[in-house]
Amino acid sequence: MSDKMKQIVLASRPDGAPRPENFRLEEGDISTPKDGEVLVRVHYMSLDPYMRGRMDDAKSYAAPVPIDGKMEGAGVGEVIASKADGLKEGDFVMGGMGWATHAAISAKAVTKIDPDTAPITYALGVLGMPGLTGWFGLTEHGRPKEGETLVVAAATGPVGSMVGQVAKSMGLRTVGIAGGADKCKLAKDHFGFDDCLDHRAYDDASSLQAALKDACPKGIDIYFENVGGKVLEAVLPLMNPHGRIPVCGMIAWYNEGGLGANAREGALTAPKLWRTILVNFLSVNGFIISNHWDRMGDFHKAVAPMIADGRIKVQEDITDGLENAPEAFMKLLTGGNTGKAIVKLI
Ligand code: NDP
Repeated sequence: MSDKMKQIVLASRPDGAPRPENFRLEEGDISTPKDGEVLVRVHYMSLDPYMRGRMDDAKSYAAPVPIDGKMEGAGVGEVIASKADGLKEGDFVMGGMGWATHAAISAKAVTKIDPDTAPITYALGVLGMPGLTGWFGLTEHGRPKEGETLVVAAATGPVGSMVGQVAKSMGLRTVGIAGGADKCKLAKDHFGFDDCLDHRAYDDASSLQAALKDACPKGIDIYFENVGGKVLEAVLPLMNPHGRIPVCGMIAWYNEGGLGANAREGALTAPKLWRTILVNFLSVNGFIISNHWDRMGDFHKAVAPMIADGRIKVQEDITDGLENAPEAFMKLLTGGNTGKAIVKLI
């Protein structure tokens, strides 16, 4: 085993979309675990849209990554040294190891995973944070009922595909929105969406809205918000009275400090937005999944059997090598991933 570790740090803050120079690959000594810690050799690390927010020095629900600090993120790997009760060499764990090949981390901050029950990468996606996000947001804030219509964008990603599949299993009509014909095919053939629209095929919100109207003849009862932007603008006027909008993410605006500062003039002004919510009695619920880790057990109980017997399908997009993580992350932000974005480190 090499006695050096590699990590990727934030070299500078992006102005708009991240660029390669915002990241730096570093080599260093492998840490020795302190009392209560384990040393983990990371096998796979997760790439997630929230990491874009951590690159900005802006007020948010979580602190930004400092300049020269290790990029944050979850990983799964093997314990190679332990100074903690309850975890031994050879155990597999998931936790916030960052963009790094090795991490010494408190045993309290990791979750032990069983590599024999599911592929270890599932702990980063379908059985981990993104899967929980989709399931929790849909069931808690979407309040789905049989026969209703649900729309979700980023439909082939780990959040959107969970939302669509759970909703379908509950008897809803599911309409996905995804970038490109191939992703739409995947949404329908693999993830079982009743229909899927390619948002890139529509120049503006009104043409997308016309297509959505056809795809949702009974209107939209639940819009699971993953993206904001043109999709939100197209969906809102089609919401049925008493519709629900779990607000999970707004990736279309992440490169603009999250607020869509450069959004097209006239689009979704606050009065238009508020009026739509008011006159349609909509429930709009923002949520951050880190406030709901206590629901992980319920989620696994409900969903793990459906994954095991194939009712819930999985799609992963695995990039090889830590040095390729920045490029894979930049692609994720513009839809270059197909499925859960993961980097293989070993
Ligand atoms: P994905 O793996 O689905 O990746 C993001 C996808 O967003 C891209 O592949 C792309 O899909 C789509 N996208 C990017 N830009 C646009 C755009 N301008 N318009 C429409 N779609 C766009 O991500 P996740 O499943 O991990 O996350 C989905 C959303 O959920 C994100 O907004 C994320 O921040 C949010 N989230 C929120 C959490 C919370 O606690 N609230 C927790 C986890 C995730 P395509 O090519 O199909 O358009």
